Amino acid sequence: MKLTILGATGSIGVSTLDVVSQHPERFEIVALSGHSRIDLLAAQCAKFRPKFAVVGDAFSAEKLQTQLRRDSIPTEVLYGPAALEHISSLPEVNAVMAAIVGAAGLAPSLAAARAGKRVLLANKEALVMAGSVFMDEIKKSGAVLLPIDSEHNAVFQAMPDDYAGSPMARGIKRVVLTASGGPFRNRALSELVDVTPEQAIAHPNWAMGKKISVDSATMMNKGLEVIEAHWLFDVPAAQIEVVIHPQSVVHSMVDYVDGSVIAQLGNPDMRTPIAQALAWPQRISSGVASLDLCAIGRLDFEPLDLTRFPCVALAYRALIEGNNRATVLNAANEIAVAAFLERRLSFLDISAVISATLDTVAATSADNLPAILEADRMARVIAETECRRRQK
Ligand code: NAD
Ligand code: MG
Repeated sequence: MKLTILGATGSIGVSTLDVVSQHPERFEIVALSGHSRIDLLAAQCAKFRPKFAVVGDAFSAEKLQTQLRRDSIPTEVLYGPAALEHISSLPEVNAVMAAIVGAAGLAPSLAAARAGKRVLLANKEALVMAGSVFMDEIKKSGAVLLPIDSEHNAVFQAMPDDYAGSPMARGIKRVVLTASGGPFRNRALSELVDVTPEQAIAHPNWAMGKKISVDSATMMNKGLEVIEAHWLFDVPAAQIEVVIHPQSVVHSMVDYVDGSVIAQLGNPDMRTPIAQALAWPQRISSGVASLDLCAIGRLDFEPLDLTRFPCVALAYRALIEGNNRATVLNAANEIAVAAFLERRLSFLDISAVISATLDTVAATSADNLPAILEADRMARVIAETECRRRQK
């Protein structure tokens, strides 16, 4: 299988290359992209010898190309958004790992969908901001969309083969997404006033990029995942539940009308869903240790308190209201998280900024890409203003 990996230098990208390197006879890397950590991208090019490497700007491209030439590595370096779309739709590529973080991943993920590739989707923001357009492109081209997010990969594995189009007709009652609760699960809201970025990104179970780590602390990550589940599995908001499960061993569940609940379990390591999607419908080893339930001892579950985690409530609201609401939610969240990481916004103000942005940006239809991009742009302007108003 010939692969393009978007976001190769990130947490998911590195885990993907780890799985790929365990099966050299099976996978060939055609293209890699990275926006930062260009030294890591250079090392990846030296190891996997892709045809193309894509970086963010001309300066980084020049620097990387010079280094690769000096080391006699035959990779051609390209840069910018058009180059990302190019490597996502190359005729020789079978599958694209979409692992860029945030809205920047939308255009290349859509290009892969349009080109009919096997799309391995980690970039949940693409689906949250442009769900209907994304799913339309997948249907039109006949592309195969496989979720990498551990919860959705678990749901995919627990679904019947023929769920597409009418999950309810297949006897599915609910999709239950598990959530670790993040690093602040046991803290009262009042204790979170002075939380620092360092505390917020220290996740108890998963090692991830900074943005998704903050999203896990606010639990907006679970909110985005509820919206992601809606688009992937065609299940309405009322039938998507979230349950807190601190051990992150049960990755999610599907509840059927006959009382059967099918769950997928495993150690919390993203190489499992990555390997599952890379090899589907076959199975390959991933390097993840076998699950030792006796060593874990117990699995706990608690209900989610929506007042304690207002970001999840905002995401449910956006999904139920439809139109451009999820696009606005996603954009405002990206701006607020960036401001928090830059120490310009307090942790508790993240949800306040998102809520105020949803109240300010008009709810209009978002069934085409120009409308989505306009809602995204508008929400970023408003959210930035809201951040400045609340600046620490
Ligand atoms: P990360 O920050 O570690 O890596 C992000 C990658 O995207 C890097 O290669 C970076 O260079 C690239 N990138 C960043 N901004 C870019 C831009 N403007 N243009 C082009 N490339 C850019 O993030 P991650 O943790 O690997 O997450 C990637 C995606 O996968 C996110 O959407 C996240 O929600 C999702 N995801 C991650 C995990 C996880 O365990 N890390 C789990 C589930 C889902
Ligand atoms: Mg997840």
